Amino acid sequence: MENFDLGIVGGGPAGYTAAFQARKRGMDVVLFEKDELGGVCLNRGCIPTKTILHSAEVFEQMKSAAELGIESDNLRANFSKVMEHKDKIVEKLRKNLALSLKNSGTVVIKEFAEILDSHTIKAGGQTYHCEKIISAIGSVPSDLPAVKFDGKFILSSDDILNLKVLPKSIVIAGSGAIGTEWARIFASFGVDVTVVEFAPHLLPNADVEVSKRLERIFKVGKIKYYTSTAVEKVEIINNSVVKVYLSNGEILESHCVLLATGRKPVNCQRIDGVSYIGDVSGSIQLAHYAIRQALDEIGQVSYDEKLIPSVIYGCPEIAWAGLREQDLAEDSYKKSVFLISALGKSHCDNCTDGFVKILSSDGLIVGAHIVSKEASALIEQLIIAMQNKIPVEKLKETCFAHPTYSEGIFESLCNL
Ligand SMILES: Cc1cc2nc3c(=O)[nH]c(=O)nc-3n(C[C@H](O)[C@H](O)[C@H](O)COP(=O)(O)OP(=O)(O)OC[C@H]3O[C@@H](n4cnc5c(N)ncnc54)[C@H](O)[C@@H]3O)c2cc1C
Repeated sequence: MENFDLGIVGGGPAGYTAAFQARKRGMDVVLFEKDELGGVCLNRGCIPTKTILHSAEVFEQMKSAAELGIESDNLRANFSKVMEHKDKIVEKLRKNLALSLKNSGTVVIKEFAEILDSHTIKAGGQTYHCEKIISAIGSVPSDLPAVKFDGKFILSSDDILNLKVLPKSIVIAGSGAIGTEWARIFASFGVDVTVVEFAPHLLPNADVEVSKRLERIFKVGKIKYYTSTAVEKVEIINNSVVKVYLSNGEILESHCVLLATGRKPVNCQRIDGVSYIGDVSGSIQLAHYAIRQALDEIGQVSYDEKLIPSVIYGCPEIAWAGLREQDLAEDSYKKSVFLISALGKSHCDNCTDGFVKILSSDGLIVGAHIVSKEASALIEQLIIAMQNKIPVEKLKETCFAHPTYSEGIFESLCNL
């Protein structure tokens, strides 16, 4: 039996971050991965979707490039090449990760692993004794009680990455991050997209003004959507199209359905003394949250769960952190909404849609909601301010470069 200080099951963001941190602290680490290193994030989540989304954005920008003086003839998207490019990026980052783990001195074992008790892991016919064990085995797509994945017409976010040809039309159930990003990708490539959301607004976890803005963005992007509506049943007709039965009585016809209705932690028996981090913990399912949990688990690097950013990619990006307006009691807060179209930079970039919305209470920022190009980067400025309780008045003393989208933060602060 081999002995290690730390045994980690799962090589996604939670698992590999824990491995790097533990090695920095001089622990002997063994990491088990049954599939590809990088987990969902690198192989079936963040990285492949954002790579495809970037191709879609470039295509979208090129469609209106003539306005900016850039002319091109015969513009078209080659979807199979888009997917090949995505595969190359994933492969490159996977190799980088494998090399970094090797260089860190982590022992990587590419096997399915079973945790037998709080000190023993079994994998590939061998047993490993570990002082401490972390389970970071992630999550899987979840389907609906009456609608099950079939990999051909009823697709999960995993299946959709294997498409070689664009469908002519798609119904997407769910308008969270995954549903919204895929709606944007498909619409850019000319697919007829309909999003069906069960909650009263798109992006149900967002501030209500952000949700409403996304509804406008969808309309401009010719993405049809339903809210307060459920997908109840899906029927496959002649092995070629699907009929999607909605709770409002309507029946949609499309070439396939993407169920973006959530993910569930990998089913496993919980063992006392074992730490469960990342998606398997059953908490927020985001790669950066998994990473924070790993940092906390190994290095006791604490974080504020209320300030975990949410980001929806595409053009414009959407990002938020902290409290939403609907969380706050009337008269308990101040609000400032600054339109991105008032910034010179947004006109330079031909990307004027969006706003910076800041909510404050007692002179401190309590929530930030941004719809803008670069929102994923901008939100961090406000998270740093919130986390460190920097007063609004103090923040106003900061010099913001011109022309930038950051000026939107300054202008929004000035209206509080
Ligand atoms: C389409 C999509 C887009 C996403 N986009 C974003 C985004 O933009 N930003 C963001 O923050 N998050 C995003 N996410 C979520 C993010 O991918 C996950 O939150 C993150 O991957 C969770 O990390 P993890 O380490 O907990 O688990 P995972 O990444 O799921 O890794 C778990 C690993 O454990 C392995 N494993 C499981 N069981 C065993 C076993 N018994 N033995 C050995 N190995 C095992 C699995 O093979 C897997 O590699 C997205 C997810 C999806 C599906």
